[in-house]
Amino acid sequence: MIPFKVVYHEQYDLNLGAHVFPSQKFRLIAEALLADKVASKEDFARPAAASDEDILRVHTPEWVRKLKTGTLTASEVMLLEIPYSRELVEAVWLAAGGSILAAQCALRDGFGANLSGGFHHAYPDHGEGFCAIHDVAVAIRRLQADGAIKKAMVVDTDVHHGNGTAAIFLNDPSVFTISIHQENNYPAHKPPSTVDLHMMDRADDDEYMGALIPAVQKALEEFRPELLFYVGGADPFCEDQLGGLLLTKKGLMERDRRVFAEARKRGIPVATALAGGYARRVEDTVRIHVNTILAAREVAGEFPLKAARGG
Ligand SMILES: [Zn+2]
Repeated sequence: MIPFKVVYHEQYDLNLGAHVFPSQKFRLIAEALLADKVASKEDFARPAAASDEDILRVHTPEWVRKLKTGTLTASEVMLLEIPYSRELVEAVWLAAGGSILAAQCALRDGFGANLSGGFHHAYPDHGEGFCAIHDVAVAIRRLQADGAIKKAMVVDTDVHHGNGTAAIFLNDPSVFTISIHQENNYPAHKPPSTVDLHMMDRADDDEYMGALIPAVQKALEEFRPELLFYVGGADPFCEDQLGGLLLTKKGLMERDRRVFAEARKRGIPVATALAGGYARRVEDTVRIHVNTILAAREVAGEFPLKAARGG
């Protein structure tokens, strides 16, 4: 029913129990896509966990060992802000495998959507803010190692700055990073992305789009990536508990649609990952993520990749 794959695994759940991060959202999004007949079972692709070799393209052996053996220090667990569990480790290795698969699907089909991932606060040697493994960086490094792409762009629309992404790709001319986020919000330390769009508190749909779209257009024109990896945060939503921007559900879907269209009209494939979403009602977060898939479907119809590639 959709001309691309949604990548999902039932063990995406981070096993957090009662926590501000609604880790059941992954399952709820997959169920909503089926219930609303946006996607059929055949549209789903099931990822394998990323290999340790792939994880180590981004992360230090020490951090990988600590995660696999459950030997994080108390301060490392505090920075991570979620409880450590075996299920968490399995889920983030799967999320990284999912982002690799979504990126590979995107190169083939024009779009590929991981229904997890976007763990943009993870650094090579530690985790932060609910993010233990940087799935998007792992996927980009894997595709580069395979020779599938040379240059990638990350467009991060989570309400929180993509600090891990910025740190990992700092001084790397092969990856262009854009982060649009609320300036007065987590994380306190924001290493520079290639382009940082620091939004003021309570910025609305118009202010947000007025900053984002011209920046994306300029970056795509100048950098010409072979893949755009979209980190589609649901937390710029006006009713988010951890955000301070005022975007509407309609504005968020328009955001996704416009960014996808800018890439696809230039013949650039798009892979997506979820990132944060902490709306008071979990169904709002689920709806915003589902709308990202609807936006991709709309743009896929509008700009078929083969035609775009052929000019
Ligand atoms: Zn966030």
